[in-house]
Amino acid sequence: MKSEKTEILIIGAGPAGSVAAGLLRKQGREVLVLEREQFPRFSIGESLLPQSMEYIEAAGMLRDVVEAGFQYKNGAAFVRGDKFTDFDFREKFSPGWGTTYQVQRAHFDEVLAKAAERMGATVRYRHEVLSVDVDGEQPQVTARSPEGETYRVQARFLLDASGFGRVLPKLLKLETPSNFPMRGALFTHVEDRVAPGGFDRNKIRITVHPEHVHVWYWTIPFSNGRCSLGVVAKREFLEQYQGTDTERLKAIVAEDPSLSSLLKDAVWDTPARRIVGYASNVKSLWGRNFALLGNAGEFLDPVFSSGVTIAFKSASLASDCLARTFAGAPVDWERDYAVPLKAGVDTFRTFVESWYAGGFQQVLFHPNASPEVRRMISAILAGYAWDKNNPYVADSKRRLGVLETLCAT
Ligand code: FAD
Repeated sequence: MKSEKTEILIIGAGPAGSVAAGLLRKQGREVLVLEREQFPRFSIGESLLPQSMEYIEAAGMLRDVVEAGFQYKNGAAFVRGDKFTDFDFREKFSPGWGTTYQVQRAHFDEVLAKAAERMGATVRYRHEVLSVDVDGEQPQVTARSPEGETYRVQARFLLDASGFGRVLPKLLKLETPSNFPMRGALFTHVEDRVAPGGFDRNKIRITVHPEHVHVWYWTIPFSNGRCSLGVVAKREFLEQYQGTDTERLKAIVAEDPSLSSLLKDAVWDTPARRIVGYASNVKSLWGRNFALLGNAGEFLDPVFSSGVTIAFKSASLASDCLARTFAGAPVDWERDYAVPLKAGVDTFRTFVESWYAGGFQQVLFHPNASPEVRRMISAILAGYAWDKNNPYVADSKRRLGVLETLCAT
């Protein structure tokens, strides 16, 4: 079997893999990315958070993203029955970007991967990683080319950015169950035909089901008159509906009067898809000469659109650790990678748990929220979940608990 060597081997050219490749190329590292699919390919996860722009910029890919013509995004709107609230992310507690984009992931992921190639990374499409050996001095993977040839690659360090493919967690038995109940999503893209002024295309719109607090819909407008539309619910809820995924999604959308009225002229021209049981976790985010990035590590829930931001944050922390490793400085991957990454993930977790229990929804829709508290919440919704200066980050459980109690009375 043919064998080759590289400095950094990355599995997967999704957001985590491509941004890691860009950051590492800026350090002058030799980077090989093996990607199973041919790009462009569909992926879910279309609403970015402003915090993610910091990492796109640091990776040297800002111009590529800006020039791609995606839908500008400046906030999030929440609707339940006749209740409405929205957040403008430029009005937020934490410093940094206040705007971002809503992206068709097929195009976005291709833009990032091409940017990584432009910066000198080698990206091989339709090369699937089949097995891995991390017991030797250096990690080694076996991959299969589009022609069906298998070959080995040895690397000084291996980054698993395989997302829902979860290559190392599966092969190395690192998977642990998520604490979240089994939820699923049905989603599609529609030509929305919402009249101008019908809704703010610069914001993701989250609609809570009129009867079920744990069921919610997303509408994510794109720059071409189309919109991503999806519903998230427990698996048992979704299983009650009959027919194709499109028919089931249509039936659930019809249950919300404001959403169905908004989309009354929409053209449903794309078959709906479904994903169930996406929440995942791992025993460890790293091992000897390897680390897990993005969704290959932990994935919580889509409600606050945090997935791509967490993927980028993981790429950024890992590339900082690798810069120190290659400079001969000691790196403790638990202290320098896993702990800081999980700090922000845990902030999101607090808000996700409270969302599904209903408490955070009461906070969001409360009519008399203090402007300062709204700016702190806005920062978290914008992805600044690692900013310890924000009391709702530093002490999120207790602070949110107090707020929930105040808003419930
Ligand atoms: P991925 O994007 O999954 O990329 C992994 C890549 O690895 C893929 O290209 C895959 O082909 C490749 N790969 C897999 N296996 C192999 C292999 N064996 N060999 C080689 N390559 C391989 N996030 C947001 O930020 N905003 C949202 O609005 C949002 N909405 C979501 C809605 C739903 C219903 C769900 C489930 C998730 C949502 N997310 C959202 C989360 C988002 O989809 C992910 O967090 C994000 O895509 C993770 O990026 P990644 O780079 O880690 O992995």
